[in-house]
Amino acid sequence: MSTAQEIKDIIARHRGEIYKKDYTFFEVDTFAKCVDYVEKESATCAHCTELLSDMANLAESYPKMLNNGSTGRTEFQQRLSVYTSHLATAHGYKRKGIFMPLYTMGGLAVGALAGLISGQFLICVASGMIIGYIIGCSLDHRAVRTGKTF
Ligand SMILES: [Zn+2]
Repeated sequence: MSTAQEIKDIIARHRGEIYKKDYTFFEVDTFAKCVDYVEKESATCAHCTELLSDMANLAESYPKMLNNGSTGRTEFQQRLSVYTSHLATAHGYKRKGIFMPLYTMGGLAVGALAGLISGQFLICVASGMIIGYIIGCSLDHRAVRTGKTF
């Protein structure tokens, strides 16, 4: 059984085999982060124990996948989304920065409605967006502070 540190070492060792932009674009950092989270949760979760050995596997093969055109790339993204969705649904992890765009749009919608009712359309839309943005940002910061974001 590989430890998270061993898996992250393997990921780092293969890093030079893929393009730098692919490393960012395919969120290999997210993969490494999930390795830590899955190891932590595997203490109490049998599914995470399974995922961890799958991750050890993927750590060895991800450069080949990402350099292998769209088939390999899609497979990498699917494997990564299996990890992130299990962490999200079973253990309450969240994607970083999801609240800000959501609440900004929500604020805009509420502001537009209030604007139609009151006749102060622009002021209401602008304040709705600003309030939504502030709430969204603070929720994002709170999520980061819990240490459960990827
Ligand atoms: Zn789990």
